[in-house]
Amino acid sequence: MLSTDTGGHVMHPVMKPALRRGWRDRDTVQFGMTPAHALTLGPMDPATNGFLDLLNGTRGLPLLREEGRRLDLPPGHADTLLTRLTRAGLVDDARGGGPAADALREKTDVLARLRPDLAALSLTTAEPGAALARLAARRTLRVQVRGAGRVGAVLASVLSGAGVGEVDVRDTGRVEPWDVAPGGLPAESLGERRDTAARNAVRHAAPGRPPRHAHSPGSGAQDAGLALVILAPRDEVAVHAPDPADAEPLLASGTPHLYAGVVEATGVVGPLVLPGASGCAGCLHLDRGDRDPAWPRLTAQWRSPKARRVAACELTLATAVAGLAAAHALAFLDGQSPTSAGTRWEVSLPGLDWRSRPVRAHPACGCGAAQRGKKGEHTSTGGERRATMAVQRPSAERRRKAGEARPTGTWRAHV
Ligand SMILES: [Zn+2]
Repeated sequence: MLSTDTGGHVMHPVMKPALRRGWRDRDTVQFGMTPAHALTLGPMDPATNGFLDLLNGTRGLPLLREEGRRLDLPPGHADTLLTRLTRAGLVDDARGGGPAADALREKTDVLARLRPDLAALSLTTAEPGAALARLAARRTLRVQVRGAGRVGAVLASVLSGAGVGEVDVRDTGRVEPWDVAPGGLPAESLGERRDTAARNAVRHAAPGRPPRHAHSPGSGAQDAGLALVILAPRDEVAVHAPDPADAEPLLASGTPHLYAGVVEATGVVGPLVLPGASGCAGCLHLDRGDRDPAWPRLTAQWRSPKARRVAACELTLATAVAGLAAAHALAFLDGQSPTSAGTRWEVSLPGLDWRSRPVRAHPACGCGAAQRGKKGEHTSTGGERRATMAVQRPSAERRRKAGEARPTGTWRAHV
C-alpha cells in the first residue's frame, strides 16, 4: 500500500501530462510516442481507465481510494495500480518535491515560463515530485562561462533561461560587431564591456531569477562553489588546442569544466572534464602529441600572437554548439552523465554530421584520471564490484517487475 503521507504532505498523484496517451488495441494503452520514453499498460478495463482520468493532481490518496470503490474497483486495486504506475515512472506528485519545490510553486510567472522544461524533466526523472525538485535545485547552482563571443554569450543565456540560478560570464574587451548573435550579445551592446553586456543578456533571458549570492571580492572565494565552469573561448586556437595551463586551477580545485567553441568551420562540444576521473585538456594535448609528432610545433605556431583578424565562426554552427553544450551542461548539473565526459563531439560544415572523438585519460598527465581508471579496473574484480552490483540489483529487479524491454524500446507494464 502506498503511503498517504510523503514527508509531511499528502501525495496528489497526476499522470505525467508530457506523455501522450493512445490505445494500441481494446485493452492496451500506450503512454508516450517516442521509443526513448514510451510505455504500454495492459490489460486495461474501462473502470481502471476511468480511474486513470482521476489522477490529475487534484485528489489525494484517501479520496482516490474512495473514488476507486465508487468505480467498483476490487478492494486495494487503487493502491496496487498507483504503486505500479509510480514504479513505471508514469506518475508525478502535484504537491511533491520538498520545500524548495513548494517555494518555486509560489512563483507562478517563473514556473509558467519553465513549464516545457518541467515537462521534459518529468520524462527523465522517475520519482513523483522529482522533476520540480530538480528544477528548484537548478536555481541554487552557480555556473561560470568564460568567453562571451557568439558561442559563450548564447550558451550563458540558454542556461539562465533553463533555470540555472547564477550564470556568471567572464571576458575581456568590448563588444565588437562580429560578437553580436541572436540570444547572445545584442547589436545595441556594441562598444560596451563584453562581460557586462553578456551578464545583461543572461539577466534578460530569465526574469525572476534568485538574488545573486554575495561573494567577498579578492578573497579567491568567488570560484568556490561553482558547480561547473564552461570554457567557450572566442579564440579558435584555444578551441582546437585548449591550453592545459588554463585548466590547472580548475583541476586543482576539483571543479568540473566543459569545453565548447567553433574553430574554422567545425563546432566542438566537450570534453566535460571531471577532474581526476575523465580526460582533461592536458590528456588531450599529450594524446595528440603521441599521434602526431608535429603537434607541439604546430600548437606553438598557432598560439604565437599575430595580427588581429576575425576568425571564421558561422552563426548557425555557433548557435548549434551553444545549444548542445548547454544541454550537456544541464544534464550534468541535473545529476546525469552526459556523453561529453571523456569525449569531444565535433561537427563540420557543410555535412553537419556529429561525430565523437574519445579524450582518453593520458598516463603522463598530472590530472590523475589515467591512474584512477587503472585503479578502477583493478578493484573491479574484487569485493568493490560486488558491492556496486548489490546496490544496482533492486533497480534491476524493479525494472523486471515493471516489465521486460521490448525490441522497439517501449516498456510493458501489467496493470
Ligand atoms: Zn589529464
